[in-house]
Amino acid sequence: MKIAGLQKVSLLDYPGRIAASVFLAGCNLDCGYCHNRWMIDASAVAEAISIPDFLRWLETRVGLLDGVCVSGGEPTIHAELPVLLREIHALGMLIKLDTNGTRPQVVRGVLDEGLADFVAMDIKAPLDARYDLVAGRAVNVADLRETMAVLRVWDPTAKQYEYRTTVEPHIDALALREIASEVWRCECWALQPYRPPQDETAAQVQGVAFDFEQLQEIARDLAGVVPGVFVRGE
Ligand code: SF4
Repeated sequence: MKIAGLQKVSLLDYPGRIAASVFLAGCNLDCGYCHNRWMIDASAVAEAISIPDFLRWLETRVGLLDGVCVSGGEPTIHAELPVLLREIHALGMLIKLDTNGTRPQVVRGVLDEGLADFVAMDIKAPLDARYDLVAGRAVNVADLRETMAVLRVWDPTAKQYEYRTTVEPHIDALALREIASEVWRCECWALQPYRPPQDETAAQVQGVAFDFEQLQEIARDLAGVVPGVFVRGE
């Protein structure tokens, strides 16, 4: 497991907290809209900072940062993830885990051990064959449903996790309504406008996506199903 990137302070990545964001190299999906495609293949990624150096640096931030957002790539593909999370918690830092939800057993293990304080899970498409199209890989949607069930059991108040959907061109208003019927129990569902990657991968997603204003209008409509829906970023 290696760190592909470190953002030393962010006011946006961890809701309501001042946090560092650490990006772990490697992902089991290949979303067309991915802005971190360069880190999907961990073997091709140069380490930004070693894990011991990161932890030493983090120690100097105690009292200045509330926590750490552990992102990727996909953090749950790494067997060593719990070790890193334990080290971060040992410094008294909160942890937000970003996940694509494909590894429910890992998420369950992390939460059972109290190693995350907030979880953000992608819901990339309706939970059917369209998921593979958006994720760029065959996804077992039963795994996604299981991760969602793990989150509901972990936090019945649904305040410590969020779902997020990047509304790329395959996702139309009907698809969003279908996703709403899956996530209706959550307190927080972030719709994220599609922004084409600024590199050669941009052509992988054809078509036109909703803009920010259009998404706001759709969100107002979906709020009848999911009161916690909102559009993130502009
Ligand atoms: S799950 Fe996230 S990191 Fe992995 S390919 Fe998709 S957008 Fe990129």
